[in-house]
Amino acid sequence: MTVISPAPLPTFGLDAAPESTTPRLGRLIVFTGPSGVGKGTLLRSLRQRYPMLRLSVSATTRAPRPGEVDGQDYFFVSREAFQEMVAQGELLEWAEFAGNLYGTPKREVLKQIEAGHWVILEIELEGARQVRETFPNALQLFVLPPSLEELENRIRLRGKDADDAIARRLQRARVEIDAASEFDRQIVNDDLEVALEQLENAIFRD
Ligand code: ADP
Ligand code: 5GP
Repeated sequence: MTVISPAPLPTFGLDAAPESTTPRLGRLIVFTGPSGVGKGTLLRSLRQRYPMLRLSVSATTRAPRPGEVDGQDYFFVSREAFQEMVAQGELLEWAEFAGNLYGTPKREVLKQIEAGHWVILEIELEGARQVRETFPNALQLFVLPPSLEELENRIRLRGKDADDAIARRLQRARVEIDAASEFDRQIVNDDLEVALEQLENAIFRD
């Protein structure tokens, strides 16, 4: 069992003031990269090793893929319900991606951070940019594919998106990859184990 010492880790500016009576706040980690690059796969492995990491569950207007569970993979909502969440200021960030709306419910994330947890947001580029404005010290990580060809292979092999959705995702992938240098760390997901180790280093050691 890996033991993580909290003392020397970076704080990303989310820690409370240093007074000894003030409780420590948690950390916000943004995890971005083109659809199909392996973000979900990496996060599943990471959370098996570090179950104390919290993963924010987003709201989306996208239809569930086979096997996806409401409230676990996403909160699947109608466009009207999503727009109401936006109007009520309930989202930390939100964006349109490949024809669907995606957003991070604010209340749960803030609650987790206030309770001292480390919270991961797996979100696309526009949302990551919004979080950079509101939480400038959040750790921002970007996952790159070894090549665009391999990215397309992975999306197709996953076998859960229709052809038009795949085309929109690949088009968007180019824009996202061009913005990778905006992020604090870039991780190439070629060999999964190597990428996982780089991810662990970025979160716990760098
Ligand atoms: P994302 O969450 O970024 O959309 P997924 O985690 O769903 O991507 O991964 C897309 C597909 O790529 C899945 O079928 C997954 O098993 C596969 N995959 C992920 N990482 C690797 C890797 N390092 N090498 C080969 N295939 C991978
Ligand atoms: P997918 O449909 O493949 O699950 O997700 C498509 C894209 O939406 C991915 O890049 C994913 O990271 C992103 N995404 C998921 N949830 C959110 C969210 O809450 N906000 C934003 N901005 N993007 C999200």
